[in-house]
Amino acid sequence: MMSKTDYRHESVNSGKVSLYEVTIIGSGPAGYTAGIYTSRARLKTVLITGTLPGGQLMTTSDVENYPGFPNGIFGPELMMNMRQQAERFGTIAVDDEVIEVDFKHRPFKIRTSSEIFESESVIICTGASPRKLGIKGEEMFAGRGVSYCATCDGPFFKDEDIVVIGGGDTALEEATFLTKFGRSVKLIHRRDKLRASKILQDKAFENPKIEFLWNSVVTDIEGDKKIASISVRDVHNGKMQKIQAGGLFVAIGHVPNTEIFRGQLDLNDKGYIILKNNSFTSVEGVFAAGDVHDYRYRQAITAGGFGCMAALDVEKWLTERKHHENKAISSFYTKA
Ligand code: NAP
Repeated sequence: MMSKTDYRHESVNSGKVSLYEVTIIGSGPAGYTAGIYTSRARLKTVLITGTLPGGQLMTTSDVENYPGFPNGIFGPELMMNMRQQAERFGTIAVDDEVIEVDFKHRPFKIRTSSEIFESESVIICTGASPRKLGIKGEEMFAGRGVSYCATCDGPFFKDEDIVVIGGGDTALEEATFLTKFGRSVKLIHRRDKLRASKILQDKAFENPKIEFLWNSVVTDIEGDKKIASISVRDVHNGKMQKIQAGGLFVAIGHVPNTEIFRGQLDLNDKGYIILKNNSFTSVEGVFAAGDVHDYRYRQAITAGGFGCMAALDVEKWLTERKHHENKAISSFYTKA
């Protein structure tokens, strides 16, 4: 027997343009939480997952700081649970990528490679992606020694000489984690001061397996089938050196996934969505939640909280809008 959710899903794929009350773009904790709330409030909701359904937590192993799981939970399992919870209340999850939006006309239009969704409101939860170094060899050796996620790839680097780049919390956390696998771990930072929290710094300084290389930047990644070495430049005296590396972990922050919203919404100089108040963006009816606007906390739990806030804001906004529309219609007929 076809469930209510299956039936609604089929109508999405039948080729016709469907009008939704809420379209959620993105499927991390912010997106799924927003879906749980809007569909539970009986708003017709579609959630377009993006290319990595579940978002960044799909590339994480143990999540130990998400409340409610005293023994931790695997990132992908947590995200599958969130998706099922949203679908249970009627959220239609579509595994596709949004390639274009039109927020200039109402209803808003959200286009994927195969469909157009029209929507009275939108919640943007597209998150952020790891920042790239932008140097020679980075793309070529991605997945062949260059990684952006130690928890996902660390076990592949057993007994290798590992290099981590960055000076923030992520870099230090990853360097410490990687000492479980690597023969050696070298942390390369472009300054001589770390921006990571004191507790992570202390942990890393105490770890005999971690070596620090200060005031240095990687300029080149070399190898054959996989990475073998990197070229490093001292930023003060320009001196170059070659360092043997079986693995290179890039941990230099993130960039928000906002390219498709450029020119339609107000973004800050780093590309993050600017919120007017609560979860409202510069376009009325378009809301944002999670890492796409929050560059400060960037936690699964905070993203989920922002998703909940955006859903409650949308619900209130839609109710008020419908109330105004009904009032306008009834005064039109009263006058006529
Ligand atoms: P981040 O704090 O922005 O740090 C990025 C690091 O990369 C900085 O040290 C920066 O150097 C360096 N960097 C940036 N661009 C670079 C480039 N092109 N080449 C070389 N180095 C470059 O990013 P993050 O470490 O991912 O942390 C992001 C947020 O998540 C933070 O708020 C952090 O507290 C939080 N977080 C928390 C935890 C935890 O609490 N356990 C764990 C992970 C992350 P400069 O210092 O010179 O700018």
